[in-house]
Formats: sequence, structure tokens, C-alpha cells
Amino acid sequence: MEIKTFGVVGAGQMGNGIAQVAAMSGLDVIMSDIKNEFVVRGLGTINKILQRSVDKAKMTSEEMDEVLGRITTTVDIKDMADADFVVEAAIEHEPIKFQIFEDLDKTCASHVILATNTSSIPIGRIAARTKRPDKVIGMHFMNPVPVMKLVEVIRGLATSDETFKTTWDLAEKFGKTPAEANDYPGFIANRILMPMINEAVYCLYHGVGTRENIDTVMKLGMNHPMGPLALADLIGLDTCLAIMDTLSDGFKDSKYRPCPLLRKYVEAGWLGKKTGRGFYEYK
Ligand code: NAD
Repeated sequence: MEIKTFGVVGAGQMGNGIAQVAAMSGLDVIMSDIKNEFVVRGLGTINKILQRSVDKAKMTSEEMDEVLGRITTTVDIKDMADADFVVEAAIEHEPIKFQIFEDLDKTCASHVILATNTSSIPIGRIAARTKRPDKVIGMHFMNPVPVMKLVEVIRGLATSDETFKTTWDLAEKFGKTPAEANDYPGFIANRILMPMINEAVYCLYHGVGTRENIDTVMKLGMNHPMGPLALADLIGLDTCLAIMDTLSDGFKDSKYRPCPLLRKYVEAGWLGKKTGRGFYEYK
């Protein structure tokens, strides 16, 4: 079935980025969140990023208006009834994702694929909350979505070949390069990335180095574009902690124990760039 209308649940940093690339590829987009102020903020971010492209002459203002004109917003998940394909990008919290998938399963036509942008939660566990596990799949975009090329595509046990192919093709339509991963906690990207970030937090916790020195070692020594602590701030420390908890619960291996300092920051509301304070301070 041709995909014309693309639904995105969650208008945070990932949701609005996914909505932007979908609208830029010519699809009509419905972007939802739980409060109007969140969809307004998400749309504001898209506006700002597109305006930057216009300022740099990478896009005309007419093209920008066309892209924005393809995006509608809602705070009612029932409006996803009009979507041909939905990606969920709400917070990394299992009970919330379960509820969203139960709601989408009731709302969307039975042929519609329900994808999740989860960073770590097993796809099969989410799929089991629906009556269409063959049409549930992981579509894991990277941050920032408009810039990063990769989309990790993750099959659950029951995901059909047709669902996989449609999702893969859609990632390519968005100008991304898909890579396939199997359904284990954290998949490939966060199975490797997050323990490294967690270890960097342990280095800070144990006083092995300052935040600046830890990030400098990894940037200049390993040729990483960002240090792990700055990257954790960009991802969101709440998301990092949720991923470590999923790895730790999923593998029952102490090597995935989240650093107590990470938990302390999250408990204090220091979630990184999005709250203005994480391992670094942001204006
Ligand atoms: P975020 O905190 O920026 O945004 C999450 C959004 O979800 C918020 O706007 C929140 O209001 C909304 N939300 C909460 N409950 C909801 C509900 N019931 N229905 C609809 N919306 C709801 O988080 P984010 O960084 O955009 O992460 C979103 C998802 O993407 C998570 O699963 C995360 O693990 C994953 N992810 C994040 C990154 C990253 O670098 N931050 C990268 C890849 C994947």
C-alpha cells in the first residue's frame, strides 16, 4: 500500500526531527503529543531548522512553506486514524510505550505498520501489546534526525518480511541509510554506545578526569566528533539512564549497571541540553 500520510507520536527532539524528514520527503505528516505546548514547541524547532536552511540558501522560502504546510499537529492520538504508517517517538518509558501501542492498535486500520523509535526496549515486548505483531517494527533514527544518516531497522520475532521491506524502503525515501539489527536490548547502536557513555560517567564519578578531559581524550584520542559526556547531554540523561536500565534488566549482567552519578543527575532534573543542565551548563 502506498504511504501518503505518516504519523509521528511524540513531538520531542526525535519526534519533530522525524516529522521534518518525512515532510521533506513529500509525505503528509500528523505529529502528536500529550499537550499542545509540546507540539507547538516541536513545530517551532522544525521551523527554526528549516529557516536556517533558507538562510544558507539550501532551500527556498516557498519550499519551506510547502514542507511546513504538510505537517499537522494534534493532541488526540485518535487522529492517527488517518495515517498509513506510524512511528512512535515518545519518552523511553515502557508503560507509556505499551499504552501508546494499545491505543494505536485500536485506532489505526489493521494494515497500518506501527514502528517504534525506541532506543533499547525489545520490539517483541511492544509488539505483544497489539493484535498485529507482524506489523510492529523498530525504526531507530539517530539524533539529530535531519543530519544523521543512519536508521537502525529492528525486526521483532513476529515482524513480517513485508513490514521489514516497507520500513527499509521508507528509511531510504527519507534519504537515510538503513542497517538491520536483531531484537536484543539496545539493538546494535545502544548496545555499544551506551556502555561507553556510562563508563565515561564512571570516570567522572571516580575522579579519573574532569568532564573536559574525559571528552577531550575521546574526541582527540579516538576521533569521535563529540565527547561522551557532551553526547549524553545531547541525547538526554533520562534517555541514557532508561537505556542502561533496559540493558541491565535485559541481560542481568553487572557490566551494564548504570553509574550512580547518572541516576543522581536525572533525579535532580539535570537531563542535559533539554533542561539547560547536564554534565555541562547550557544557556
Ligand atoms: P524527548 O524527551 O525530547 O521527547 C519525548 C516526547 O514524548 C515529549 O515531547 C513528551 O511530551 C512526549 N510524550 C510523553 N508521553 C507521551 C504520550 N503518551 N503520547 C505522546 N507523546 C508523549 O525525548 P526524545 O529524545 O525525543 O526521545 C524519544 C524517543 O526516541 C525515546 O524512545 C528515545 O529513547 C528515542 N531516541 C532518542 C534519541 C536521542 O538521542 N535522544 C536517539 C534515538 C532514539
